Amino acid sequence: MKTTEKTIQCGNFIGGKWEQQGANGITRVNPAGVRDVVATAPDSSVEDTRRAVQAAADAFERWRRIIPPERGKIVRRATQLFEARLEEVAQLLTREQGKILSEARGEVQRGIDIMEYSAGMGRRLGGQTFPTEVPHVFCFTTRQPIGPVAAITPWNFPVAIPCWKIAPALVCGNTVVCKPSPLTPATATRVVEIFAEAGVPPGVLNLVHGGPQVGSELVNNRLIRGISFTGSTKVGLAIHTAAAHRLAKVQLEMGGKNPQIILHDADLKKAVDHLVPAAFGSTGQRCTATSRAIVEKQVAPEVASLLLEKTKAIRIGPGDRPEVTMGPLVDEARLRDVAGYVERARAEGAAIVIGGSAPEGLQEGYYYTPTIVRDVRPEHEIAREEVFGPVLSFIEVSDLEEALMVANRVEYGLTASIFTRDIGRAFTFVDKIEAGMIHINRPGLGGFSHLPFGGFKHSSYGAREVGDDTINFYMDVKSVYIQET
Ligand code: NAD
Repeated sequence: MKTTEKTIQCGNFIGGKWEQQGANGITRVNPAGVRDVVATAPDSSVEDTRRAVQAAADAFERWRRIIPPERGKIVRRATQLFEARLEEVAQLLTREQGKILSEARGEVQRGIDIMEYSAGMGRRLGGQTFPTEVPHVFCFTTRQPIGPVAAITPWNFPVAIPCWKIAPALVCGNTVVCKPSPLTPATATRVVEIFAEAGVPPGVLNLVHGGPQVGSELVNNRLIRGISFTGSTKVGLAIHTAAAHRLAKVQLEMGGKNPQIILHDADLKKAVDHLVPAAFGSTGQRCTATSRAIVEKQVAPEVASLLLEKTKAIRIGPGDRPEVTMGPLVDEARLRDVAGYVERARAEGAAIVIGGSAPEGLQEGYYYTPTIVRDVRPEHEIAREEVFGPVLSFIEVSDLEEALMVANRVEYGLTASIFTRDIGRAFTFVDKIEAGMIHINRPGLGGFSHLPFGGFKHSSYGAREVGDDTINFYMDVKSVYIQET
């Protein structure tokens, strides 16, 4: 692949200095047009990673002594810089990752919102007071940062996810080594540049590009006290096992197989209007994407027909074109993977209602048509595993009880939604669904920038991200007893 003057030469950021810019161990192309070489970055070594960890360890003591509202002010300054550069970062995100521009703008805004919330945490990092058990003792809890932490991030939200790890980590007083996905080095570099420009001191935030060798060193390095990881369940489980050997703290955000239940009393048009973007938005490459429509039998024909009509209206193409509503998949491996799932579903007896192929006339990028699969049984692979592409399984059920049984019969439990006008059935759903983020008469995506983000079972592990819950990961608690003298 030939680089051009538009290629961004990304470097590592260690101890406040950019280095190895121009190294091309990693070459990233535009998934909508693979002749556009977006970025090069170093494929860093274990030694590079160790230097970044040492820089974070050296900077920790001084950073934790800066009072929390001051740390918050630096993050607030980064938020303002992001606001000023929103459009530029969004365009880069579309070029590097492939999502359409409106989704890219939404992602950058989400990063900004979470940073703004995190900046305010600098004034909320308090403990609690308690009544005493014996006379003349005053007791309270106070919090401390855990130390240098690793932020290991995926390619599907390459701006928002680093922001929602880095911002609270810094405000809580930790130093950070960030390792982004090798598929999105340029957006990760922009994020770190903005924090550095906002005044984060040298060594407090470090960036190391690379693959599993960098991630693995971060997980095993004894100077790293906590690992905040977002990615696949397979890698998350391996990180958990490795970190357990040295009792490092972990916060794992992993895969999803999210259901949307539609009951017969729902506003069916509204249910489908929300279902289509929930399933096919970001080309289905969201951990929160709806990948199973679980529909009561008596309304299944009407839902299926509305769904087909709306899916046909999706326009596929490069994400920077205004008429396009769905961009490409992130790379060739993802394209092969998604196509493989659909082929195996066909072999298991499912019917492809629409899609299931590459679109015509778009040879340059990694495109796949939005796909609906019917005659899916809960035990089929397509109904159980995370496809991470624009593929929706349509499953018919007799009633809410069966819907819940099907919805919960997977190893994941990230988000779930239900469409019904019956408040009693909505509450039964809240009580019985195994998921961490639950929506009623809303699409089953993530949520607001101040509520905990995470799920049950193999979707999440450790303290929730986003909102104040994340303090439980980034800080330790001390219980203090003072005896009156
Ligand atoms: P991935 O697990 O392949 O990679 C995630 C990160 O881990 C990357 O930076 C990668 O280089 C690194 N990594 C890979 N092997 C490693 C190892 N052995 N040790 C340490 N680090 C290692 O995931 P991906 O393909 O980048 O992202 C897609 C996945 O992320 C999907 O499963 C999706 O559901 C999940 N995801 C979850 C959430 C959430 O909040 N629950 C959000 C976004 C994405």
